[in-house]
Amino acid sequence: MDTKIKLQQGDITKLQVDAIVNAANSSLMGGGGVDGAIHRAGGKQILEECIKIVDRQGRCKTGKAVITSGGNLPAKYVIHTVGPVYNGGKNVLKEEEQLANCYTNSLMLAFDNGIKTIAFPNISTGVYRFPKQRAAEIATETVDIFLENQEGIDEVIFICFDDENFGIYKKLLAV
Ligand code: ADP
Repeated sequence: MDTKIKLQQGDITKLQVDAIVNAANSSLMGGGGVDGAIHRAGGKQILEECIKIVDRQGRCKTGKAVITSGGNLPAKYVIHTVGPVYNGGKNVLKEEEQLANCYTNSLMLAFDNGIKTIAFPNISTGVYRFPKQRAAEIATETVDIFLENQEGIDEVIFICFDDENFGIYKKLLAV
């Protein structure tokens, strides 16, 4: 794995990085889990910017990403991406691709905005029910490939909230 990839356990809203990524839903109007935590800690400015984005370009599609300021957060920006809801079965390949797209599109948006340090939560592994092991494999492989092909981003942090995800990432990243 690329040496720019780091692992941490904790609350993403506390991180002092250029950008944190939000596991949003397509309405961009906030919700539960990490989305709720980010809007609570960041204050109303983030929601106001999200409303403007939706007015301008409509809801955010699964796998896509948009950017707002960080409001009251220590992070300068929030990149909101919409993970797939996991249903498995015949949809699984599409859902895996959409999850990979979340990471790639967030990193491309970060790059376009001159962001050097970025932190990701474990997208789709909460209420969207994506299996944690598979989600972690997709996340780490996708970020690794991006960093191999694109100079400009100095540090990518995977921040795990729950012990299960933290354990899975520890093994995958061999740290
Ligand atoms: P999704 O709808 O994409 O599944 P959730 O917010 O339900 O989003 O869960 C995504 C992941 O975010 C879960 O692994 C959950 O443990 C984690 N999470 C929840 N709160 C926080 C937080 N404050 N900081 C970092 N990760 C968090």
